[in-house]
Amino acid sequence: MIAYSIPFNRAGLQGSELEYIADAIRRGHIAGDGHYAQKCHALLRETLGIPAAFLTTSGTSALEMAALLLELRDGDEVIIPSFTFVSTANAFCRFGARPVFVDIRPDTLNLNEELLEANCSERTRAIVPVHYGGIGCAMERIMALAEQRGLAVVEDNAHGLFGRYRDRWLGSFGQLAALSFHETKNFTCGEGGALLIRDAAFIERAEILREKGTDRSRLFRGEIDKYSWIDTGSSYLPSEILAAFLWAQLENRDRVQQRRQQIWELYHERLGDWAGRHGVRLAEIPADCQSSYHLFYLLLPDGRQRDRLIEHLRRRGIYAVFHYLPLHRSPMARRLTGRSWDCPVTEQVSDRLVRLPFYGGLRPEEQDYIIRTVQGFYDA
Ligand SMILES: *Cc1c(COP(=O)(O)O)cnc(C)c1O
Repeated sequence: MIAYSIPFNRAGLQGSELEYIADAIRRGHIAGDGHYAQKCHALLRETLGIPAAFLTTSGTSALEMAALLLELRDGDEVIIPSFTFVSTANAFCRFGARPVFVDIRPDTLNLNEELLEANCSERTRAIVPVHYGGIGCAMERIMALAEQRGLAVVEDNAHGLFGRYRDRWLGSFGQLAALSFHETKNFTCGEGGALLIRDAAFIERAEILREKGTDRSRLFRGEIDKYSWIDTGSSYLPSEILAAFLWAQLENRDRVQQRRQQIWELYHERLGDWAGRHGVRLAEIPADCQSSYHLFYLLLPDGRQRDRLIEHLRRRGIYAVFHYLPLHRSPMARRLTGRSWDCPVTEQVSDRLVRLPFYGGLRPEEQDYIIRTVQGFYDA
């Protein structure tokens, strides 16, 4: 095994995590929806300007809740970008929906809104845009098309918490949105997520689905004196110990995001000339987006150079990684759809993309070393 001196990601503490966990235990309630979960819910609601937000055990379970709330049936179609994490598709397909894979835009690597219309059918029920790297999809176009056709929009906002598109928060456009607090995301509690709800009609049922199909949330609020089994559902609540950890991260959101912005901007500034000389494309932020600075990527001219750059960095103790394999070419996609898909941009980007180490605890001298090592690639 190779010991990397600079990992791709390292989970960082913001400072108060252990204190808040101890406090949660002292309070005598460590199951879900306690003091810290309520604080996280309120912060997400108030900051994003939405009527409800619920912590979940993962981003995947937030997407599953969205699928349940939409009451998808066998054969219903859900439009997703092929360039995304497995859960964007799986959360819907496991309830019988069929994925329709749409290609991405070459500039933002987001779902290409120009291709949506042609991929809609009478079976289409929902569109699931993914804000890749924290850059917003063309949400106005996507929402307009969805409205016109009566489709739901579920934003997979696993990357984009606190990013904005045209002065509106990512995760506040669709009827529903999912966040992830996995260790690799900007804010983490190890494993966790949240369901964001903009359409208040979903709130009551979301509470029930999340509480194993019961109305126990109403009992806790004192609205009823016993709770019953009234719907389907599962256990989607994270424990208060995780919520306490997460609160320590969210309460420091400005510091977390400022540090990530600094890292992103330094990569972008110092690699720009080098990239221009060698036909390498860097991650960019379009004028109408404020990024959440989730990741920093380079697009090499071809897949061979990408693989060689990863190897060049690895030999020098730097762990850089590629990203998603096209979902439309996966064994599961073939099994579910039994057809081939035309997503050439996804295929090229998947071959050519590399992500550089990116985490708040990255030390300035480490980032300087990474930048110089990348700049030395074509001279090596
Ligand atoms: C991380 C991620 C998920 C899943 O989140 P988990 O919390 O790991 O379940 C879903 N979609 C995207 C785009 C992600 O990056």
